[in-house]
Amino acid sequence: MKHALTFLTSIKALTALFLLIAYVGIGLISIQFAHLPPGNIAIIWLAAGCGLVILLELGPLALPLIFAASFILNTPTYYASLNTLDAKQPLAAALILGILPAAIDAWQSWMAAKAWHHFVETTHRPPLQKPTDLPHFWLKICFIPALFSMVLLHGVLTLSNMIVYQDLLSNLQQMLVLIIGDTAGLFIIVPIYVSWKSGALKNNYRAAVPYLTILTLIVALGFLFYSYILMLILPILLLIAIRFRLAGTSLALFIVFTLSVIGTAQHAGPFVNPSPILSFLNLQLFLFSIGLTLHYLALLQELLSHSRQQLEAEVALRTKALAAANTRLEELATTDELTGVANRREWQHRCEDAMTYARRYQQPLSILLIDIDHFKNVNDQYGHLVGDLTLKELCRVCNAELRASDSFARWGGEEFVLLLPGTTQAEAILAGNKLRMAVASQAIVSYEEHTIRITISIGVAMLEDHDSSLDHLLNRADQAMYAAKAAGRNQVQCAQSCSTFSRQ
Ligand code: GH3
Ligand code: MG
Ligand code: MG
Repeated sequence: MKHALTFLTSIKALTALFLLIAYVGIGLISIQFAHLPPGNIAIIWLAAGCGLVILLELGPLALPLIFAASFILNTPTYYASLNTLDAKQPLAAALILGILPAAIDAWQSWMAAKAWHHFVETTHRPPLQKPTDLPHFWLKICFIPALFSMVLLHGVLTLSNMIVYQDLLSNLQQMLVLIIGDTAGLFIIVPIYVSWKSGALKNNYRAAVPYLTILTLIVALGFLFYSYILMLILPILLLIAIRFRLAGTSLALFIVFTLSVIGTAQHAGPFVNPSPILSFLNLQLFLFSIGLTLHYLALLQELLSHSRQQLEAEVALRTKALAAANTRLEELATTDELTGVANRREWQHRCEDAMTYARRYQQPLSILLIDIDHFKNVNDQYGHLVGDLTLKELCRVCNAELRASDSFARWGGEEFVLLLPGTTQAEAILAGNKLRMAVASQAIVSYEEHTIRITISIGVAMLEDHDSSLDHLLNRADQAMYAAKAAGRNQVQCAQSCSTFSRQ
């Protein structure tokens, strides 16, 4: 009891109820507006499509639901027919007779669902995504289930005199109408379901409304006033298929199918023939040709748009990877691998730019050449790896001391350079001493039980008018650095001015 109550209030039960009402409602519309004489045998069985949707949504447990819905729809038809035929106990006969078509309808939906699942199992996606899905959809999901079930139903209806046997040809025509009617029902409803499931229907229907309204008007005018107006639906349908793909096309075909079936049933439009069956066959021929063409076009558009999206995503991915690779490449080209500071090339570029700027705007500019004292000893005593750690430690300390406008770089080996734009020689000496003291006190590497400390010697040179090039300026700084070494290391020496320097 409790379980039953939980089921009744669950979403699944609500869905089941909704689908049952949809099946009966759509079936009633089919019977009401377009039926074959003498009974109310629907000419386009949209309920067949609903049956498949119910099975796909609710699973095999939905079979009794389809059976019940079809029974509700069919029994009154048989009752009315049996009444007109003056049968004995028409209600009992109708109830018994109602069971058979209901079972056949459920069987048809089961066959269609099986073909659907087979497609999903082999392709790992639902049908109606690509134009190549159409043969499977039309043949295996729509036509074959309709063919088997309607041949059987036709037999039942003929044997029970619901379809009055006149001659073989008209009897076969009636069978054909039943088969095509059920195929069309599946073929109209299922694409709407597919678009609804993929979310495309929700995204597209608002924009498609004006197009669908014009389409409805044209079909209505064609059937009400002048048949040839119907030709105008072709460009509208093409536009809809191209713009709104399967979602728009499925709605457009639903409109065209139902309106033209209703119109033809009311003896209007271009398909009317003295024989009602031939009228419907004429109509179905037209509907199937536009249906197939439009489905093909819509799915082609679907494929195109998917390929475009895939291509765009791939291009975006590659562009991102390329940008990352470029950044990395630039990093590699401009930084020193071991210490992470700028490399010689990068520093030279910055220096050339800064020198041009300093010369143009008459600004001071100084450079510092820094060399670690007795670095060979570090390598010899503790090994190259510890030597490398020491180089990194030196960079860490120097980076912490520098301003954003300063450019610090590894010149090579254990030599470093520093560019100080807007800095006079006196200020550069101060900066050099600050750096020297920071290194002496803070650059510490611990290795096993050893604590390794280093000192640096610095040569300072300020840009002068007579410095012909960066190399010239660097040479002066180099001389100053050697002077610092010669004077006992761990100190800052400034370069001779250009006039004295070039005379040497
Ligand atoms: P000085 O005080 O005169 O400068 O003495 P020094 O021992 O530092 O002499 P020099 O500047 O000529 O020493 C350069 C040494 O730096 C030689 C080499 O072993 C070491 N070196 C250069 N590049 C690297 C490196 O990338 N890693 C390590 N661990 N050592 C390096
Ligand atoms: Mg050196
Ligand atoms: Mg050295």
